[in-house]
Amino acid sequence: MDFDLTADEKRFRDEVRAFLAEQLPSLEERKKIGPAFFPEWWRKIREKRWVGFDWPKECGGGGGTIMEQYVLKQEMLAARAPGLGRDYTGLGWVGPAIIQFGNDEQKARYLPDILDSKSAWCTGYSEPGVGSDLAALACRAVLDGNEYVVNGQKTWTSMAHTGTGLYCMVRTDPDVPKHDGISCLLIDLSSPGIEVRPIESFAGDHFAHLYNDVFFRDVRVPAANRVGEEGEGWEIICSALERERSGIAEVNRHHEALERLFKLAAQSRIAGRPALESAVLRRRLAAFDARIEAARLNGLRSLTRQVRDENTQSDSSINKLHNCNLLVEMAETGMELLGGASPYLGDTEASLYKGRWQIGALGWPTTVIGGGTPNVQKNIIAERMLGLPKD
Ligand SMILES: Cc1cc2nc3c(=O)[nH]c(=O)nc-3n(C[C@H](O)[C@H](O)[C@H](O)COP(=O)(O)OP(=O)(O)OC[C@H]3O[C@@H](n4cnc5c(N)ncnc54)[C@H](O)[C@@H]3O)c2cc1C
Repeated sequence: MDFDLTADEKRFRDEVRAFLAEQLPSLEERKKIGPAFFPEWWRKIREKRWVGFDWPKECGGGGGTIMEQYVLKQEMLAARAPGLGRDYTGLGWVGPAIIQFGNDEQKARYLPDILDSKSAWCTGYSEPGVGSDLAALACRAVLDGNEYVVNGQKTWTSMAHTGTGLYCMVRTDPDVPKHDGISCLLIDLSSPGIEVRPIESFAGDHFAHLYNDVFFRDVRVPAANRVGEEGEGWEIICSALERERSGIAEVNRHHEALERLFKLAAQSRIAGRPALESAVLRRRLAAFDARIEAARLNGLRSLTRQVRDENTQSDSSINKLHNCNLLVEMAETGMELLGGASPYLGDTEASLYKGRWQIGALGWPTTVIGGGTPNVQKNIIAERMLGLPKD
């Protein structure tokens, strides 16, 4: 595919660049402004309709074409702009699920808050013993009049302790094949009968409370909060997971990480010698560079398929697999270069970036397992892309 931008796309790119140059404070200024920076930033980009830029205009989004979305993401990342809105999960897959499968009332009730950064959705898929084999989920919802009564547990629910709502997959029919008995409920996290308990991570304070167990005891959820038909949950999950695993523009983040890694390597010593004299290290850094280029090309392939309205599920899995390995291996290399250096002391790369290498290396479960394990991605690639048999 020809990736040269059309005249309109170039105009749009220039508009984004001009806006960022004028409106986005430098990293230093942002630090000075503190947390107050974010609401103001989200308001400004919402005015431009760049929050939910991929959503249709009639749903309050920007109606950006695939190429415009790509341009916007690239420019935002290149300028190190923060994410497009507070409600990452709402923008990424809850809103799109409501747009695709929900009714008009649900669109009117939930979409504006997502776009205005007023909501904070969490994802309720996983349960104890139910992660990769998601279709086996057991959290039960029984219809009682015009409400569902939900009992069961979700686990690893990121940010449920601060979230406003749970996009939750429940079993509404245990008597049909497992994929057919799942439905999607939008559950207010302040509903009586919900208990959120923290899961503490081994990675220390930084990750002390991001993940949770969520327990449901006779939680009553209006039937009007069901997205799609009863039993349509699996289709909604598949569509949402594809979105969660895609993300071409991430290569910009990889470039930035590699740049920092080079900088760290140039400052470091291995066994008393400058680290960059090590052929092993140089080869490793060069391999990272080549793998970032591979990620970029996979992203462009996926973009081509999106523009042609073709299925991108395997590309998303390749993207997830490739990116998570790359991020963790780069962070581990950073850790190795730092050796015993403390993340917060002295004028080192580690202190400069507040322990980013340690966080990246120790926080690997977030990158690697969240959104589906590498084995699961390999299964998808093997079966759906390479056509290999299951057994
Ligand atoms: C940091 C973090 C954040 C998360 N956030 C959320 C969240 O917000 N919401 C949510 O719902 N879930 C969340 N999860 C859960 C995550 O989606 C699951 O942990 C993941 O899907 C794996 O499921 P599991 O933990 O049950 O492991 P299992 O599925 O039991 O897997 C264990 C091992 O077996 C392998 N395996 C399993 N099945 C197969 C197979 N068919 N073929 C080959 N190998 C296989 C896996 O690759 C893995 O190595 C999060 C997880 C983490 C670690």
